[in-house]
Amino acid sequence: AKVNGRNQISFYDPSMSRNLVRRREIEAELRLALQRDELSIFFQPIVDLSTGRIRAFEALVRWFHPVKGELRPDEFIPVAEETGAIITLGNWITAQAARAAAQWPDDVTVAVNLSPLQIKAPGAAMGILNALREARLPAHRLELEITETVLLDHSKQTEDFMAELSAAGVRFALDDFGTGYSSLGYLNKYPFGKIKVDRSFVSGVNAGKKSDAIIRAVSGMASTLDMQIVAEGLETIEQVQAVQAAGCTLGQGYYFSRAVPDYLAGMLLARERER
Ligand code: C2E
Ligand code: CA
Ligand code: CA
Ligand code: CA
Repeated sequence: AKVNGRNQISFYDPSMSRNLVRRREIEAELRLALQRDELSIFFQPIVDLSTGRIRAFEALVRWFHPVKGELRPDEFIPVAEETGAIITLGNWITAQAARAAAQWPDDVTVAVNLSPLQIKAPGAAMGILNALREARLPAHRLELEITETVLLDHSKQTEDFMAELSAAGVRFALDDFGTGYSSLGYLNKYPFGKIKVDRSFVSGVNAGKKSDAIIRAVSGMASTLDMQIVAEGLETIEQVQAVQAAGCTLGQGYYFSRAVPDYLAGMLLARERER
């Protein structure tokens, strides 16, 4: 803290203003990033734990900034949400993901993350159906990942959005399960086919912690409701075995593969199908 000219104490934290500056830069540059072709979509396999086969890929956005290097979505997605740029960005991501998936075998789906703002935008469901049509991707091969936060306000918009797309064949996954409010009560109210158990649970799964019991309980309930359960962030064989023992049928994580560019996703599928 320092005393300024008028004898008032002001707190000056250089790291705080550095963060603020960076945020402002990201905000300004994100608008141009799409036009400058700095963004791309990477794909991370989601595998069947009992066969090891790839059942889906999750689309994860990447920003390769010419000066700042690779920026994490955790850094720029929140900025895009704040400025509203997520609408344009999200439409682009869905279109790219659908286009890539149209090149894959019919039984492989693509999972796309949706921000709350995208769901509440006017004509949101229509936009997604248009992207599918343009890419010639059947609706059942698209899965939308949404987090519990979206459901908290129990809005009619969210319900209608999900109902309309679900009727068209689009699937839904409840993302980051276990990180937030995790009320299971609403699960049968919405058309979720999958629950994705967050990495924070998975990392504690073989440490003899509560996570194991929780995953077991969730997967028990999931199978009752006819839902599949996906374990996220699997990094070791021990974790793979533990979540499988706890009832997860699908898994995703560095143990299998990081997110890769679309040509590599295509190669992984081709190699798998040669065997
Ligand atoms: P998420 O949806 O939970 O995505 C999973 C994140 O975990 C990804 O980080 C992925 O690379 C990472 N991950 C996967 N396996 C492992 C593992 O074994 N170990 C570890 N340590 N990490 C693993 P990423 O790509 O940095 O994305 C972070 C978050 O940013 C995502 O979390 C999602 O919330 C958001 N995001 C990413 N792409 C998009 C997008 O296209 N649209 C929207 N709205 N959000 C996105
Ligand atoms: Ca996700
Ligand atoms: Ca997740
Ligand atoms: Ca997340």
